[in-house]
Amino acid sequence: MNNKDRKITHRYGIMGGTFDPIHLGHLFVAETALYNLNLDKVIFIPTGNPPHKNSKDITIAHHRLIMTAVAINSNPKFELSNIEVMRRGQSYTADTIKQLLMQYGENIELYFITGTDAFMEMSTWKDCAYLFRTMKTVVATRLGYDDESFNEKVHFFNKKYNASIINMSIPILEISSSDIRERIRQKLSIKYLVTEGVEKYIKKHHLYVKNINESL
Ligand code: ATP
Ligand code: MG
Repeated sequence: MNNKDRKITHRYGIMGGTFDPIHLGHLFVAETALYNLNLDKVIFIPTGNPPHKNSKDITIAHHRLIMTAVAINSNPKFELSNIEVMRRGQSYTADTIKQLLMQYGENIELYFITGTDAFMEMSTWKDCAYLFRTMKTVVATRLGYDDESFNEKVHFFNKKYNASIINMSIPILEISSSDIRERIRQKLSIKYLVTEGVEKYIKKHHLYVKNINESL
C-alpha cells in the first residue's frame, strides 16, 4: 500500500529496551511521549538477546518481562509485548516492526521512542533504512551528547533515509539500569529509582546481587 493511501487510525508508541531492570526514566519517557504526541498507547517490548549487549551479562528474559509487567501495571495506556522475548536468536528492531505491522495492519503509525544514546547508534542497526521509512523516531534527551553532534546525526538520517525524527526534550533524569544494578551490588538504596513493585521483585528474587558472570 502506498503511504499516501494509508488512512492512519491509531498511533502507537514503541518502547524497546533491555529493561534490566525497568526504571522511572523509562516510564517517564514513555509517559511524556504518550501525552506530547497524543498516542493511543505505548507498547513496552523487552529485548530477547539484544545484538549490542553480551547476552551472558543480561538477566533472563522471564524476570525482565515480569518486572516490566509489574512496572506498567497501573497505567491502562501502557502495554507489554513479549514478541522479542519469544523470538529465537538475536533481537532486531526491524523484525519487531515488521511483525507489529503485520499484526496491526497498515493503518497504524508507529512512534519508536528512544533515548539519545540508542538513537546515536541507529545507523548500525539491521535494516535501518526500513526502520526510518516505516516509523517515526522520538528521541528523549539523555546526558552525554551535545546539541551539535545530535543535530548532525538528525541531519544525516534525514538526508540519507528521509527519516522523521522528533526531538522530545525532557528534564534530564540520569537514571540508568546499569547504575541501579551497581547500587544493588553496593547495597545502596534503589527506592524512588524503580517502582515499589519492581523493588520488591528484585529483592524477592535476589537479582543483581552478584555480577551475573560471577554467579555462573
Ligand atoms: P543500561 O544501563 O543497562 O544500558 P538503560 O538505563 O540505558 O540500561 P535500556 O533498557 O538500555 O536502559 O534503555 C531502553 C531505552 O530507554 C533506550 O532507548 C534508552 O536510551 C532509553 N532510556 C533509558 N533510560 C533513560 C533515561 N533516564 N532518560 C531517557 N531515556 C532513557
Ligand atoms: Mg542502555
